[in-house]
Amino acid sequence: MSKTAIITGSGRGIGAAIAKRLAADGYDIVINEVSQEALDTYGAQTAEECRASGVKAECCAADVSDYAQCEAMVKWAKDTFGTIDVLVNNAGITRDGLLLRMSEENYDDVIRINQKSVFNMTKLVGAVMLRQKSGRIVNLASVAGLYGNPGQMNYSASKGAIIAMTKTAAKELGSRGITVNAVAPGFIQTPMTDKLTDEQKAAMLAQIAMKRYGQPEEIAGVVAFLCSDDASYVTGQTIEISGGLSM
Ligand code: NAD
Repeated sequence: MSKTAIITGSGRGIGAAIAKRLAADGYDIVINEVSQEALDTYGAQTAEECRASGVKAECCAADVSDYAQCEAMVKWAKDTFGTIDVLVNNAGITRDGLLLRMSEENYDDVIRINQKSVFNMTKLVGAVMLRQKSGRIVNLASVAGLYGNPGQMNYSASKGAIIAMTKTAAKELGSRGITVNAVAPGFIQTPMTDKLTDEQKAAMLAQIAMKRYGQPEEIAGVVAFLCSDDASYVTGQTIEISGGLSM
């Protein structure tokens, strides 16, 4: 029987690379985006690229910070595909600003979208996986969640929480054959990092041992490993993928 993967926020960037890689590995794919407009603009194209691997790929608009919308998406995915074998909690945003200038709204939005979404989707898909007695969950953390980053009080809080949530979910779900891990990317070239200034990008590059930025496919490869049989005894871990940004 075929296996199914839901990747949140997978219309573009790292999520799209993960979707395409898991499609190449034989998974049917759910491409999720925050709105129908995002799906029409780039998500549908990503789904088409997944189908080129000969698997099914369907799009689903749902704001993953909203529990009711997650509930509807997970029910639809289960009804459509029969099983949910992989969940990648990838959707995320940045609203950067130094602490004293950061608005309460920008703090709350990042926590709600980056962090609460992981609670919503892990609870709902976790229930499906518990009944199946198998599953793989991979969360997108960040080096900001491991080490902190100036201008990212909100983002680093959300990503640090995701690392703790990964460990808690791994402890709760492990006895039922479900692994929960995280990856912590450094600087990866996507629309999220394209908006940084040249000065910010150069400062980051100076700290990277490999002296280049990462590509979305380099995150997707590690996520695919964590979803594979080779990672059957790996759980609760956070793997940094940063070209040696912090050592
Ligand atoms: P991106 O902005 O290119 O893609 C994120 C996607 O998530 C977008 O398509 C966006 O529409 C979607 N999204 C946003 N809010 C959503 C919501 N509420 N519901 C559903 N979808 C939503 O960003 P990216 O660089 O591909 O980042 C992907 C993940 O990797 C994020 O969690 C990000 O924090 C993390 N990350 C990225 C980097 C990097 O350098 N790019 C580094 C560390 C961690």
